[in-house]
Amino acid sequence: MLEQLKKEVYEANMLLPKYNLVTFTWGNVSGIDREKELFVIKPSGVDYDKLMPEDMVVMDLDGNKVEGSLNPSSDTETHVVLYNRFPSIGGVVHTHSPWATSWAQAGRGIPCYGTTHADYLYGEVPCVRNLTKEEIEEAYEKNTGVLIADEFEIRELDYTATPAVLCKNHGPFTWGKDAHEAVHNAVVLEEVAKMAAQCEWINPDNKPAPKALQDKHYYRKHGANAYYGQPGK
Ligand code: 13P
Repeated sequence: MLEQLKKEVYEANMLLPKYNLVTFTWGNVSGIDREKELFVIKPSGVDYDKLMPEDMVVMDLDGNKVEGSLNPSSDTETHVVLYNRFPSIGGVVHTHSPWATSWAQAGRGIPCYGTTHADYLYGEVPCVRNLTKEEIEEAYEKNTGVLIADEFEIRELDYTATPAVLCKNHGPFTWGKDAHEAVHNAVVLEEVAKMAAQCEWINPDNKPAPKALQDKHYYRKHGANAYYGQPGK
């Protein structure tokens, strides 16, 4: 079942090593079929160079395995919550890419220091708090997703405009309209995380880019009046 989606999610997973976002098996990608309310995710702990499209695991939105001989990613419950709470997303990525993870481990959101960031991610990429001991022990992966979604609500962030988050002492999650776009956003996040760290080294008093510049770059690429690129693409 869902053979085309399995192929797409497999290919999206294989982009993680291609873009140097994963070491060993430190990451996972999923993609969803919204009509069928099923999503496809990487199996847990399988090396990327041994991964096959048919290894992908099919899950429902209650976290039940629907098809697959392998165990799904250990982060599957986080993906379940993100699909349920962010209804317009079609793909989710988790990695331990080193620059984004460095900001997560430092417990800091990534300020928007320039137009590279503003072109893809509206405003600061938030870093959410640690889970409590109780939240970790009760349902670690599920509560990671709940915390992300709750924080976006509390901070009144638009998850479609800021398709990335850092989990403190853990690492990043990104999402997008499908698995490939979610990986694209993971690549962008890693690049802007690196540039932001470097620009703080160069100028420790650095300030975020002016709001007007951030808005110009975000909205010329996204939204009703976007004019970046070619029509219909
Ligand atoms: P899985 O191999 O179970 O997806 O775990 C990868 C990972 O990065 C855990 O945080």
